[in-house]
Amino acid sequence: MSQSIFDAAKAQLNKALQYYSIDAESEARLSTPKSSLSVSVPVRMDDGSLKIFQGYRVRYNDLLGPTKGGIRFHPGVTLDEVKSLAFWMTFKCAVVGIPYGGGKGGVTVNPKELSLLEIERLSRSYMSAIADFIGPNRDIPAPDVYTNSMIMGWMVDEYSNIQRAFTPSIITGKPIALGGSQGRDDATGRGGFYALETMKERLGLGSKPLTIAIQGFGNAGFHFARLCAEAGHKIVAVSDSKGAIFKGDGLDPKSVNQVKQESRELKAAYCKGSVCEVLDFETITNEELLELDVDVLAPAALENQLTKKNAENVKAKCIVELANGPTTPEADEILFEKGVKVIPDILANAGGVTVSYFEWVQNRAGYYWEVEKVHERLNTIIKKAAAEVLDLADEHKTNMRTCAYVSALRRINEAVQAKGTLRNFSARK
Ligand code: NAD
Repeated sequence: MSQSIFDAAKAQLNKALQYYSIDAESEARLSTPKSSLSVSVPVRMDDGSLKIFQGYRVRYNDLLGPTKGGIRFHPGVTLDEVKSLAFWMTFKCAVVGIPYGGGKGGVTVNPKELSLLEIERLSRSYMSAIADFIGPNRDIPAPDVYTNSMIMGWMVDEYSNIQRAFTPSIITGKPIALGGSQGRDDATGRGGFYALETMKERLGLGSKPLTIAIQGFGNAGFHFARLCAEAGHKIVAVSDSKGAIFKGDGLDPKSVNQVKQESRELKAAYCKGSVCEVLDFETITNEELLELDVDVLAPAALENQLTKKNAENVKAKCIVELANGPTTPEADEILFEKGVKVIPDILANAGGVTVSYFEWVQNRAGYYWEVEKVHERLNTIIKKAAAEVLDLADEHKTNMRTCAYVSALRRINEAVQAKGTLRNFSARK
């Protein structure tokens, strides 16, 4: 039987425990979720029929604060996946030092088969089903794959109706008009970009422009591509669920995104004067994109994309894991042996939850920041976390993923110790 995503996630923790031993009580608390909820999500479809979807919400661990994590609408959502994503959120919040534990939610649905009105009803129905399980001081959702700020807006509205009080701090990634933060839309890609810029010289990538391939051209992938291109790097390939496009001398991410929004296809518009034409590029397969000879490969789609089957063929010097869990533990070993530097998901994509934290802080204060303040504070947090992980990697001579877990474990262990463990209690007579 193949390993579950959750078992693979825990294997990463077990590896870190070889470098940083924690109290047995901390280990026990981290081995299983605090609470998991399975819900039926009834939706009245446009044709009048009623469809029941399966939904989940998991609060993995709240030692450092209320649990925090996105909501995914995807046909592949299972409890195992949601549990793993909540587990990763626990370590992600800890590695960047924000006062949250880890949570996650999802609905098993293909939103591409639903009308916009059906998606609104699904979003409200899911929120109504989990409303008693979450709370601004207990568990705060956000967007994830195939959910966006509009969906967060419907959900905050539904929650506020249930509470009979406008409660913006229940969810982050909201539209600005409903209490969202400046800078949340591009925060995940921006965090990955800041991590790469901070780490590239210490990782041996030098200071010259880099060639970059990106798997997944959604929220995380597009903004990462855009910021890297603006900084002078060359985006040579991008992909989505339908396929990939390649251009050796560089794509313009904004133009590709514009055509994708209009046509749902990966192409680009090139304009001369007032005349614009849509251009096809050399198409390659998703598998080929992962094996391109580039400086940086950024998986920004789903889990388990780099496996023992293709890791040996990866030619990139550095991997920026914008997606959660794109590399299996076996692939991780192979990449480390090959000398490929992997900036791990819990650091590379932590920009999203960091600006979500800023949004929650602003909602609670009722005072909103300028976008420059958001960028500056995000950069400070990512830079500090990245330097800590690199220092640990130098010290332990192991990969950055293990060191990111070690860095997170230190903070989590401190919180367990502060609550008292067997050592404190057995000393009392
Ligand atoms: P999104 O829905 O905006 O985009 C996902 C993209 O991946 C789409 O372009 C889709 O076509 C593409 N895709 C799906 N299957 C693919 C495949 N097999 N090959 C290539 N492309 C494929 O989602 P997102 O918010 O950008 O999330 C992407 C990843 O980043 C997920 O792993 C998510 O958990 C992670 N992440 C997102 C955020 C955030 O704030 N959005 C934060 C942290 C982590």
